[in-house]
Amino acid sequence: MNYRHAYHAGNFADVLKHMVLVALLDALKQKATPFCYVDTHAGRGRYDLRSVEARKTAEADEGFGVLRTATGLPPLLWKWLETVRACNDGDDMRYYPGSPWFAAHLMREGDSAQLCELHPEEAAALRQVFHHDRRVHVHERDGYEAMKGLLPPKEKRGLVLIDPPFEAQEAEFRVIEKALKAAMEKWPTGMYAVWYPIKLRSHVQPFHRWLTRCGAKRVLVAEVLLRPDDSPLRLNGSGMVIVNAPWKLDETLRDSLRLLPRLLGTAGESEYRLSWLVNDEANEAPSPA
Ligand code: SAM
Repeated sequence: MNYRHAYHAGNFADVLKHMVLVALLDALKQKATPFCYVDTHAGRGRYDLRSVEARKTAEADEGFGVLRTATGLPPLLWKWLETVRACNDGDDMRYYPGSPWFAAHLMREGDSAQLCELHPEEAAALRQVFHHDRRVHVHERDGYEAMKGLLPPKEKRGLVLIDPPFEAQEAEFRVIEKALKAAMEKWPTGMYAVWYPIKLRSHVQPFHRWLTRCGAKRVLVAEVLLRPDDSPLRLNGSGMVIVNAPWKLDETLRDSLRLLPRLLGTAGESEYRLSWLVNDEANEAPSPA
């Protein structure tokens, strides 16, 4: 386990991931009944953009750094930025929130969060961030394994975010498929969001094919590509798939997603993708779940 998210926090991939997360949490809040947020790979919760790690790569400069001064942002990106602001005191913008911070900030009093983080130092930092918050539970353990015990949550509604470091490269997709299959057997109505890197398109295609057969009625894919997806040596783009995606999530994401390649990429090279891998309920009314 060499991966440390401190080197990457606030980069273009985090912007996409956390923007989608904000939209999913908003969708869950459309109903008054409480929900549970499960984060299988939670990280340390909050990142100092002045840390040695962050300055070494300066990745945040090309993600959050570009957007922090942008004007006229669509509502979803605006809400993402407001949440980053809320993680900072005043206008300093020294910190970038991790996925658990976004969730805890946007959750209501009756909602709950189960956060899994395997690395001891990261888990200790995560605990420290949320020690005052009784809604939040931190587990220092393997997030894939933990899903077996945590699902279905007692609230019977909610979201699982799966955001692994992909140290095992392509093999991580197979691990995710196995874990998702087991999770969906235990909790078929849960919402699952998976982040993935895009280097070579051929690495991603088998995962998308698996998703079309996984049994879910609605699977949405949202991607941002900064460069052609033809080199295994660099992060050319990133994606999120949402299993059991909320009704009309594509419409909620579209304006903000369309803007990201223009703001973060190079004209002519960058693009976005927003499409349903499965949409069996396209003509039905929203489900009550
Ligand atoms: N989700 C976080 C966010 O958006 O702020 C970032 C998570 S980072 C990409 C992946 C994290 O997973 C790292 O902190 C790493 O230590 C942790 N990790 C690696 N393998 C794990 C496992 N099997 N179970 C739980 N955490 C793991």
